[in-house]
Amino acid sequence: MDKPIDTLSGAILAGLSCACPRCGRGKLFKGFLTLRPNCEVCGLGYAFADSGDGPAVFIILIAGFIVVGAALVTEAVYQPPFWVHALLWLPLILLVTLGPLRPMKGLMIALQFHHKAAEERFGGGGP
Ligand SMILES: [Zn+2]
Repeated sequence: MDKPIDTLSGAILAGLSCACPRCGRGKLFKGFLTLRPNCEVCGLGYAFADSGDGPAVFIILIAGFIVVGAALVTEAVYQPPFWVHALLWLPLILLVTLGPLRPMKGLMIALQFHHKAAEERFGGGGP
């Protein structure tokens, strides 16, 4: 096994490319958003990784800002008929929501791994 990723920039890069957060070479996903059970290169188990709704929340905020902003500007400048809005924004919504979902989920899992964040476990005996 090569040197594991130990820098924040390395973790971000591995996350955005949907790669294993420890070695940066194994694949993270087996489906569109389904995780593999573990890394095929270094064997890291992905059971710790549960980003939940995190990626979707960020994408909703960013995509909403882009689409609503673009629609407002278009309406203010050109005042097109409504079918033009439907034609423009429906594909854009799909593009800016589904497109970044995988890299965003990969990024959150990589950051979670990098910062060793996990669900609180009872009986850990922490301070
Ligand atoms: Zn790996």
